[in-house]
Amino acid sequence: MSIELFEKIIEELRDSQPFIDLYLQGEPLLHPKIVEIVKIVKANGLLPRITTNTTLLKPAKAKALIEAGLDKIEFSMSGASKRTYDSIYKGAKYEKTLNNMLDFLELNGEAGFPVHTRSVFVEEKKTVKEKEKYLECFTRLPLDDVYISPLINMFGWNEELDISSFKKRPMKDWPICKSPWRQLGINADGTTRACVFDYDSRYVIGNAREDDTLNLWNNERMAEFRKALIDRRYKDVEEQGLPLCTECSQLWPTSPLADTTQLPDNFQKEVDAFFKKEQYGFMATKYLDPGVKKEKLHYIKQHRDEWLEIVLADVV
Ligand code: SF4
Repeated sequence: MSIELFEKIIEELRDSQPFIDLYLQGEPLLHPKIVEIVKIVKANGLLPRITTNTTLLKPAKAKALIEAGLDKIEFSMSGASKRTYDSIYKGAKYEKTLNNMLDFLELNGEAGFPVHTRSVFVEEKKTVKEKEKYLECFTRLPLDDVYISPLINMFGWNEELDISSFKKRPMKDWPICKSPWRQLGINADGTTRACVFDYDSRYVIGNAREDDTLNLWNNERMAEFRKALIDRRYKDVEEQGLPLCTECSQLWPTSPLADTTQLPDNFQKEVDAFFKKEQYGFMATKYLDPGVKKEKLHYIKQHRDEWLEIVLADVV
């Protein structure tokens, strides 16, 4: 996204104070001006957040992002052995990725932990046997949150997660997804989609280059989308042969880990949790006590090589 378009969007959103997630399905650190982008968000009083695969997070970039005022970072790296990680993240090397994360954590600690940090591990067939090891190793680090994420199946692309049993119930009894009431997805070229999980922009509501972003949030296409969901007319927002909600695992409680995107039964409870910071943005987030983080920072400074050796080893 160009800086000009990004500034326009932030300017339009400033007064409504949303969280700004600097990614959709892409890797944010590929943007050559990501540090400038974080500064723009911060200068407008908003909270910039990044999820990264961590491969490009070299110490100089890490330092610049911390100094720019990054509010939150998620290190997305499934697997807890070199063999598994390298087989999932083609072309990446686990040791380098881990060192990037450890450098960030050390720099963040030296700066007084201004950035909320979270690691994310997706539980799937390939990784499940390494889940316990991941939890054991990563909770030794000065991370605020060590998170296990369930697998997501959009549009039936991931056969490992089968939602056919949920879909057997009559559509009138399906849950209502809350995603379009919480989030909006703006692509690099300004194309705006009603659902952030709509990976290839099947339901577009307009373009932020041409429209005011707040108008997009409440325009006719967006209202139509929400109304269709409330009425459970899920097929009405799909083009033939391009399923959206009817093939989306986000709608269903597929695992005890799943943060389903169904509308809450009790809105007040959700709003209260948000303001008590039990729910931060859209994801429940843990904050680790600063004293504990300091102890963990000390541990990793003393034992980095030993820790790396354990994490890289195969799980037998
Ligand atoms: S059900 Fe899935 S595709 Fe439909 S709005 Fe929710 S997250 Fe998006």
